[in-house]
Amino acid sequence: MATLDFTKFYNVIDGKLVGTAKTRRAVNPSTEEELWEVPVSTQEDIDKAVAAAKKAQEAWAEVSWEDRRKAIHNFAAALEKQSGEFAKLLTTEQGKPLMFAQGEIAEAVRWLRTLSSYPEPQETVEESPERKVSIRYTPLGVAVGIVPWNFPVQLASGKIAAALVTGNAFILKPSPFTPYCDLKMAELAQAFFPPGIFQALSGDDNLGPWLTAHPGIDKVSFTGSTATGKRVMESCAKTLKRVTLELGGNDPAIVCADADPAVVGPKVATMALFNSGQICIAVKRVYVHESIYPAVLAAMVEFVKSVRVGDGHSEGVFMGPVNNKLQFDRVKNLLDDIEKTQLKIATGSTKTQADGSKGLFITPTIIDNPPEDSRIVVEEPFGPVFPVLKWTDEADVIKRANDTDMGLGASVWSQNMETAHRIAKKLKAGNVWINAHAEPQPEAPFGGHKHSGVGYEWGEGGLKAYCNAQSVYVKTSP
Ligand code: NAD
Repeated sequence: MATLDFTKFYNVIDGKLVGTAKTRRAVNPSTEEELWEVPVSTQEDIDKAVAAAKKAQEAWAEVSWEDRRKAIHNFAAALEKQSGEFAKLLTTEQGKPLMFAQGEIAEAVRWLRTLSSYPEPQETVEESPERKVSIRYTPLGVAVGIVPWNFPVQLASGKIAAALVTGNAFILKPSPFTPYCDLKMAELAQAFFPPGIFQALSGDDNLGPWLTAHPGIDKVSFTGSTATGKRVMESCAKTLKRVTLELGGNDPAIVCADADPAVVGPKVATMALFNSGQICIAVKRVYVHESIYPAVLAAMVEFVKSVRVGDGHSEGVFMGPVNNKLQFDRVKNLLDDIEKTQLKIATGSTKTQADGSKGLFITPTIIDNPPEDSRIVVEEPFGPVFPVLKWTDEADVIKRANDTDMGLGASVWSQNMETAHRIAKKLKAGNVWINAHAEPQPEAPFGGHKHSGVGYEWGEGGLKAYCNAQSVYVKTSP
């Protein structure tokens, strides 16, 4: 296997590393310095990649499930072997602290291995003297994975494994804010898959819409914001592409009266601030029972004050910058609104970078019991700012938790399992945790209710989302 050069980045088309006439550069969010050149793909590049994918896919579908699984496992082992280099690159382009970048690469390897380890799905629904009825799952053809910038490696891995083990060809489109690890993963993969089976295209804002409109693509698996997801679905409808949409969230965490403030406060705050709050399933609204509200808020404030913010490459940093200027300005706009509407700040600040230094850093900030209709409660901040709110009545807090178009994740914190289950059962979200939050598992379906998504990824069902179901009826006694 050739050694990877982590300073040169290419599209991967038909097994070859290809440059483009026009290039662009993403930015290191900790220093705001431009990074390496990456390709800006044209329509012609897409046409070439789709043609190569189509050609290669037919043969790939004939490769046995077991051999496809082996190829993915070999790729996962190679990624694991180079995880140190990938983690450093991820911190540089995404901003997350190195220990969490290492964690993301490890999770990507786990997702690749787990999702490709399922047996080939096959079911028999009738076996009588007269006939046998069984179901096969056949590949859709050419699948495209569009990923965001918050977990570029892990989120790509779930799509790669599911698409490839089921016999599809796959084209990865990274976010323009984090193209580097994704392009390098596709380059690394060329040693394990036939040309055209795993390709990657980097580009500017034109690339996503070009891909979703392309008639040669059969499936789009999209992870990103709800607003973009709607555009993706609209575009895919024109050619009846299959779509899976993993979209935004506004996760509530409900803390019950019997929870231990000293334990729950830091845990919930961690899951609100992890990855600088840039997780689709971050805690975004904390509802605390009024009887323990002061104690939980105090425990959160104490924890948040201890959080070290800085360049992810520095030792001991827990929270890096926000990934990009667009997102930084969105969070800044929300902070301006908090200041304008004079909400109470328990810790943190509505001011950013008063000293004029470089880096897209935002002070972790808690808003103390804001009105239910304030923007910080209603909107997904996707930054290190979150509201803590009081509740008294169980039915009322469930109603407030569900009173949103979003339905991605939710959690209940209580020492009483009966109470916790009673509340959890009523929450309208694709992922519900008890005494935890944002701990996904590759075997469990991951998807959103309401405007948080369409369909789901991962688990056996996630594999089937890359397949056509084919019912086979065999008359045994003609
Ligand atoms: P985004 O929607 O701006 O971009 C996501 C991807 O879509 C990027 O690769 C982007 O280049 C591409 N894109 C943009 N416009 C497109 C178009 N018209 N057609 C096709 N592709 C297009 O999202 P983001 O800012 O990168 O990510 C943050 C959002 O993603 C948040 O809302 C977050 O909650 C959500 N998210 C959801 C999940 C999940 O699994 N549900 C996971 C992570 C992030």
